[in-house]
Amino acid sequence: MIDNNYANQCIICNVTSCKNHNKSKNYCALEAIRVGTHEPDPSVSPCTDCQSFEPKQENGMV
Ligand code: SF4
Repeated sequence: MIDNNYANQCIICNVTSCKNHNKSKNYCALEAIRVGTHEPDPSVSPCTDCQSFEPKQENGMV
């Protein structure tokens, strides 16, 4: 279970739809994240992804 009150101040993030996001501060609540790419030859920042993203499930449905 993620403690969303924890703010990893090394990982600033404003992806509020992620279940690992600290809601009161714009930080990630994980100790570490994995960053990757969906492109064969990334050249600009939108080519990169937080691969630790998990969608929030507000209604408890999977
Ligand atoms: S897992 Fe990635 S997208 Fe989710 S809060 Fe952390 S840094 Fe943001």
